Amino acid sequence: MADKKRIVVLGSSGSIGQQTLDVVQKHADKLEVVGLAVNSRVDILEEQARRFKVPHLAVGAKNMIALTQLPEADIVVNACVGAAGLRASYETLKAGKVLALANKESLVVGGDLLMKLATPDTLLPIDSEHGAIYQCLLGESMNEVRCLWLTASGGPFRGKTLDDLRDITPEAALAHPTWTMGAKISIDSSTLMNKGLEMIEAHHLFAMPYDKIHVVIQPQSAIHSMVEFSDGSVKAHLGTTDMRIPIQFALSYPERWDSPVEPLDFRTLGSLDFAAPDLETFRCLYLARVAGEVGGTLPCVMNAANEMAVAAFLARETTYLGIAECVEAVMEQHRAQTVESLVQLEEVDAWARKTALQVLQTKLR
Ligand code: MG
Repeated sequence: MADKKRIVVLGSSGSIGQQTLDVVQKHADKLEVVGLAVNSRVDILEEQARRFKVPHLAVGAKNMIALTQLPEADIVVNACVGAAGLRASYETLKAGKVLALANKESLVVGGDLLMKLATPDTLLPIDSEHGAIYQCLLGESMNEVRCLWLTASGGPFRGKTLDDLRDITPEAALAHPTWTMGAKISIDSSTLMNKGLEMIEAHHLFAMPYDKIHVVIQPQSAIHSMVEFSDGSVKAHLGTTDMRIPIQFALSYPERWDSPVEPLDFRTLGSLDFAAPDLETFRCLYLARVAGEVGGTLPCVMNAANEMAVAAFLARETTYLGIAECVEAVMEQHRAQTVESLVQLEEVDAWARKTALQVLQTKLR
């Protein structure tokens, strides 16, 4: 079929990458994979390349940039982990291709650069909350939007106090109650840093000031986010908690295709609960708001420090509460500058990682 959408998947061995290929398998008449990239899992890459007969493969962050430039590619799914995905997002948009973005760090770090290259038709969020808001905004006028309600499950430690979190192990933090995800985002979900990153992501994607982005805990994760309009009407996006739904929407847009998973059955859903987030216990969410409001290079610094701290926690080299302490200590040492270029962001990112390492090794072991 001539009108298949041809896609490249960056980070194909990860959770989002594998679920993207599930969607491709289900809609093989509409989608074709022309490129796959992994950071290191060559075994998974080889198996995927055989299964989907993929002509272009890449290993490592530098090599994957070439796949964003393939003349035959229509859509690049960026499912890389961390700030390492920023350059690929940038080059994808610059090449005039559609960016289906699961790598939220791209926008957190480089939103000021990316949004200059993007339009609502060329940057489609895969993050479930942003996919939800995107859909609630279809057909609406942005000047009639009063605020965004970004929902959060609250993670595995919802309702806990700071004292309860002192001795948390990586195993406990990795056990997310509603979503199945990779290690880095699972830890971020448990600290609510993930929601902080998503707040900054929403700010860039929807050109929304921070005082109009509210985070609300919705433990069932059935409501994926909401938009409130000037007349008091609120639109919510609901669905099964399965990432294949937002992934598929980003690929099928502007169409809708048959559901990749069982739809939500409201007769068995039970109740929907809501609560305000606890910013004292989950300091990462507070720090992310500060970083977002200050803007410039501070979100880049915050994100890099968080990536280092999460890696250290997973390696049992710092405590759970050490994650927020490290992020805050590194943020305090930075004077935010206006974002000007990718090279500048890469330098700031490298400084923040080095500083985070010093903090982790000297103060937070
Ligand atoms: Mg999300």
